[in-house]
Amino acid sequence: EFSQNDKNIAAYALNTFKPEDNILKEVRDRAKKLEIPAIHVNDMDGKHLEVLIAMANAEKIIEVGTLAGYSAICIARGMQNKGILHTIEIEQKHYDAAKTSFKNANISHLIKQHLGSALNILKSLEQEGSFDAIFIDADKVSYPDYLTWAEKNIRIGGIIIADNTFAWGHINDSHFETLELEKQVKGIREFNQRIANNSNFKATILPTGEGLTVAVRIS
Ligand code: SAM
Repeated sequence: EFSQNDKNIAAYALNTFKPEDNILKEVRDRAKKLEIPAIHVNDMDGKHLEVLIAMANAEKIIEVGTLAGYSAICIARGMQNKGILHTIEIEQKHYDAAKTSFKNANISHLIKQHLGSALNILKSLEQEGSFDAIFIDADKVSYPDYLTWAEKNIRIGGIIIADNTFAWGHINDSHFETLELEKQVKGIREFNQRIANNSNFKATILPTGEGLTVAVRIS
């Protein structure tokens, strides 16, 4: 079976589709210097995001978990210069780094940054009406809560995308090194179970290294 985990296949995909340009590389490098954790989406998942957003013609978008802005740049590239991406981050340092990233990438006009706890900010955004897309990539324990919000606030035809949905390889584990890891894996499992069984959505998990769950609302 071929997969992105196979080194030759991964190299082929990277060399052909060239997901990471100098702007994205600079985000990774600057984040490292700032001692921001290197938990950005991987390069190919960034490219998947760009294409999925363009496929959905999404213009009103939410991102939960900005970090240094890597994935938001990918999403913004999929927007093709129209619409608004609300991106939510709880850490001031990450928020500030992302502000620089958006300026460098010339996409600040497409982005509204929110600083605070995602669940509170999501609640306040409900008044803006339904959204075309949401990318979920913050604390895994809250994935089920983010899903509850998305089920209500994503329009028919809109999409839900979530990262790390193989739980860093721990998705099938029954014993965990820490209670925190166990809670995170349980959050991701509940998220996948619920979206897989929600008849208002068609959902799948793209077997990229990290696992990228993707769903489209059909009713
Ligand atoms: N999407 C980013 C990217 O690919 O470039 C990576 C996001 S990183 C995996 C998760 C981010 O979510 C961190 O910056 C973290 O501070 C933030 N975060 C964690 N819990 C949060 C919460 N409850 N509300 C908002 N942001 C949160």
